[in-house]
Amino acid sequence: MNNFTKSLLTALVATNVLASLGFAESTDQECIPEAEYSFILSKYKVEKIDANDEVVKTYSPNDRCESGAFGTYMNAISYLYKLPKAAKIPSRLQTLISKEGPAQFFEKRIANIKYASQEAESCADGAAGFVSGWDDPKDKIMYFCDLKSYAINTPLAASHLLVHEARHIDGHRHVSCERGQASEFSFPACDKTYQEQGSYGIGVGYFFYVYKSTKNEAVRDEARSLAVKSVLINFIKPPLNITTGAIILGEDNVVSFSDGVETFLGSFENDIQTMYVGSDPYLFFKNGEMASYDFNGHWYLQKNTWVSDYYKNLSQGERDTLLDFKSTVFSSCFLWPQYMRCTAGKGIFKEVRFSTINPVRFYESFDIWHKRYQILDDSGKVYVLAEDFEDMMSESDRDYHTTKTEFPKLTGFAMLENGFTYGLGKDGFMMRREPKSTKWMRAKEFKEYKFKKLYPFMWSKTLEDL
Ligand SMILES: [Zn+2]
Repeated sequence: MNNFTKSLLTALVATNVLASLGFAESTDQECIPEAEYSFILSKYKVEKIDANDEVVKTYSPNDRCESGAFGTYMNAISYLYKLPKAAKIPSRLQTLISKEGPAQFFEKRIANIKYASQEAESCADGAAGFVSGWDDPKDKIMYFCDLKSYAINTPLAASHLLVHEARHIDGHRHVSCERGQASEFSFPACDKTYQEQGSYGIGVGYFFYVYKSTKNEAVRDEARSLAVKSVLINFIKPPLNITTGAIILGEDNVVSFSDGVETFLGSFENDIQTMYVGSDPYLFFKNGEMASYDFNGHWYLQKNTWVSDYYKNLSQGERDTLLDFKSTVFSSCFLWPQYMRCTAGKGIFKEVRFSTINPVRFYESFDIWHKRYQILDDSGKVYVLAEDFEDMMSESDRDYHTTKTEFPKLTGFAMLENGFTYGLGKDGFMMRREPKSTKWMRAKEFKEYKFKKLYPFMWSKTLEDL
């Protein structure tokens, strides 16, 4: 099976790096309600296949308590049929999902379900579901992997997988992302635009549909949040008037977005030590609290994730000297002036001590090294750490490969949509570079204000007003 869509299991895990670690695993066995299961079996031919793609059984109503992830997928199909039929979707958010209806969209494209064992080649690297490039689209086959994953840890997430994969049957393929978390994957995880209604566009359209049609508040929130995340990371040209600019954390604990015009995003009484921007921005307060921004005009306290628990339990001294935090698909690290601590598995932290580096912050650059941790040193050099933890631990920082940063005097920079670039000087003052110029000047619009952090960021009022 040469599947061309390695599904979004990993994509969703990545967008939820911080949050997902706080979720409980779902239970092993999920019985499907009898009537719903019979209905599914009347609509779809459901078979179990072995690692060689041979059918080993055809599912019957007796299997409604099948172990493994099977129940999750069947319930996800059922979920599509239980959604409200007609939803009022604003025209700019309409897709084939709102036109055809979620269940009908799926039914039109898929008639055969093949439940693959975890040993199957196509399931081995963590896909949850996929359609295969070898199969004739007319065969309407969708494969599911016997895998418990965060990509399917709620009915909404699992049903989203179905419509995303179903869209691939129409021939839509992904392209490689050019920036952001989804560019860390070894497989393409972007569509060019939302308007072309590829699998990510359909997926976002599905989240909008649920967001606008359900009355269940928790599901509404989940749908909104998943839609926003996908809008921000899965499109080369994001929809909804999203512009590229900078998110900046001021020394006065004010967070704002600037794309030439500054928009206030939050102001805090408690001192903020540092900010991290993955797909969402996270604030680390000196009092041990953490907050994240939800693109809804609110900041939420982070509780019961391993990051928030770990941060809260650090000594006051360690919180006050924390330089930076970074999370990738592979691990998460806290950075201090003389050392760094990274997760090396669930709840396990490993410490790397520095003898020659004077870290300023983690450094981002999406080149061939981008899966590795890189540290910007006070001298302007960038130290590239080993990819593997054991190597990272055994290497002395004298051995680290180094590269040069484009702007050694800056601790962060962001290109704005209008061609200007903002950069943050080590003295905390905002700098600005005009389009096509190489010269940095003090950004007068920020007057004498000083800043702690600056990251590239995407934002729009339309997104907040969804
Ligand atoms: Zn896909």
